[in-house]
Amino acid sequence: MRVLASEALTSTVCSLLKEACVVLPEDVSEALKTALASADDGSRSEQVLELICENASLAKNDKLPVCQDTGTTVVFIEWGAQVSLDKGTLQEAVDNGVRKAVEEAYLRRSIVKDPLDRVNTNDNTPASLTVIPIDGEKVKVTVLPKGAGCENMTKLIMLRPADGKDGVKKAVIEAVKNSGGNACPPLVVGVGLGGDGSKAPTLAKKALTRKIGERNKNEFYADFEEELKAELNATGQGPLGLGGSPTVLDLFIETSPCHIASLPVAICLNCHAARCASAEL
Ligand code: SF4
Repeated sequence: MRVLASEALTSTVCSLLKEACVVLPEDVSEALKTALASADDGSRSEQVLELICENASLAKNDKLPVCQDTGTTVVFIEWGAQVSLDKGTLQEAVDNGVRKAVEEAYLRRSIVKDPLDRVNTNDNTPASLTVIPIDGEKVKVTVLPKGAGCENMTKLIMLRPADGKDGVKKAVIEAVKNSGGNACPPLVVGVGLGGDGSKAPTLAKKALTRKIGERNKNEFYADFEEELKAELNATGQGPLGLGGSPTVLDLFIETSPCHIASLPVAICLNCHAARCASAEL
């Protein structure tokens, strides 16, 4: 049995959160630059993409958050069955890392303790933690700071099984269309298909941790991802919802078995500041 020091997990979460808030992942940065290079000269898309790329570059060079909303700290931990933590709980170790990053990198305090009394926790804890059990001794931590503008556009729709692929397509297109400029496009779209009313949104959010261009391993879903991406880009909503192209940088589908009478579809949008960082311990 491998014993992992909780301090190691804390320090990994802290570094990943600080890095994610400041430096866009290479794949996202490249996708934005490619979109800019393809924009029509003098178009509104070109102007908006220029600002987005300049902002990302300034953030990286000046070591400042890429957006003022440093978000809810979404954390996925793939945790090997042969690993145990030396002390405390995973949530405590992760929250200590979030707290440290907020202090050290001056991240905006964005979390309230209670949804109705709205008192700020002042340290961005607790993180939204999902633990994924895996075999062996591996531990992989992924940190996804998720801004509220795009998170507020999340949708869960319980379709009828007979709605099938067309029903899923309609739900995804409607969700993106209705989000307008609120989610700060160009977007990365996560689609969770199957599971139940709680699993589908988790799948949709986990989908956002994939790299741009990384297709589903299942050929049917890989093709469906391409099809949906093309249809969403054909809507012409464009960067910041001001028209033009692209509306989405990519779209990822994650699936899970589900009940014979259910077809849950969750859609989770990530903005152009599609921040994500991960490490193995
Ligand atoms: S949606 Fe993203 S880019 Fe827009 S304000 Fe929120 S974190 Fe920033």
